[in-house]
Amino acid sequence: ERERTAGEEVERLLRPDLRGRSAYGAPQLDVPVRLNTNENSHPVPDAVVRAVMDALAADVANLNRYPDREFTALRTALTDYLHRQSGVRVAPEQVWAGNGSNEVLSHVVQAFGGHGRVALGFTPSYSMHSIITETLGTTWVHGERDAETFDLTAESAAEQARRHRPAIVFLCSPNNPTGSALPFETVEAVLDAAPDAVVVVDEAYAEFARPGTPSALTLLEGNPRLVVTRTMSKAFAFAGGRLGYLVAAPELVDALRLVRLPYHLSTPTQTIARVALEHADALLATVESIKEQRDRIVSGLAELGATPTPSDSNFVLFGNLPDAPGTWQALLDEGVLVRDVGISGHLRVTAGTADETTAFLDAMTRLAPTHV
Ligand code: PMP
Repeated sequence: ERERTAGEEVERLLRPDLRGRSAYGAPQLDVPVRLNTNENSHPVPDAVVRAVMDALAADVANLNRYPDREFTALRTALTDYLHRQSGVRVAPEQVWAGNGSNEVLSHVVQAFGGHGRVALGFTPSYSMHSIITETLGTTWVHGERDAETFDLTAESAAEQARRHRPAIVFLCSPNNPTGSALPFETVEAVLDAAPDAVVVVDEAYAEFARPGTPSALTLLEGNPRLVVTRTMSKAFAFAGGRLGYLVAAPELVDALRLVRLPYHLSTPTQTIARVALEHADALLATVESIKEQRDRIVSGLAELGATPTPSDSNFVLFGNLPDAPGTWQALLDEGVLVRDVGISGHLRVTAGTADETTAFLDAMTRLAPTHV
């Protein structure tokens, strides 16, 4: 009898529900214009680099010790930042951080999902919501948005939440990959319609929202089932630092201690994030210019006939492409990497520097006659 290959052997041993799945994988290609993962294209300013280096130098001699398991200083720094950014004052006990918001999302699913429980999300939305859910053994249910506009009304969300009786509901505002923020009433309606659910509002892109877009942080008071997640990966230009966080009732945050691995935030991670928050103004200085580039992308694409979705984020979803995978490849051949998010006829592009926007719009202008 033929011996099994190593691949067949691993497949045989793997958890049955993981067999045949493919891993999260936005391409990391070395091309001149990389606009495919909604990073902030602006490098960390020199003054911040120096401050981080100085703080890290002081840490290194103490790496023989485990980090502060409760990341106390970082929590306080995050509450101060949130107060300035959103006007909402929360206590340090309401803040929980992890290695990217993906990790804090996984803590929520580990604590409140589990075998036999359902998590509901409204797709298209951030693909990691379903991946985290399913790899942790929770059942994922694809809720729906309007197929044309990708909007999610309060009535539709509430009806779906009632129907599926979820233990967790994922909302994403502004929504990745479609771009727009949710109406506030949708969040309130879901909290009402799913009385047995933890409701997660993923606000990874909150800092880019158009004026007058309220944060779900304003709903936290008196809502012990609400979780708002944020990240330093986008507006803060700190994706490589890996620091995401959530805000919720102290009791809910306390429950997350049951599932986190001890000392999950390394000493260097805590330090660089804390120093970055001390320099929030310098790091966030690019947000206004990124919003200008986003609005330039929206109007440039509209002129080319490639229907952009209104955006509260640092990216734009655009459609009316007869062959989106072909357009993705043609842009790559022009040195511009964007994202095929799997929505038929659509692609997503990140707003970066003015030069990157120009390179993208120039390439689209050359391609438009045959691609739009
Ligand atoms: N939520 C949303 C909606 C995102 O788009 C992303 C990043 N693409 C994340 C969370 C995760 O970001 P991070 O883990 O870097 O904080």
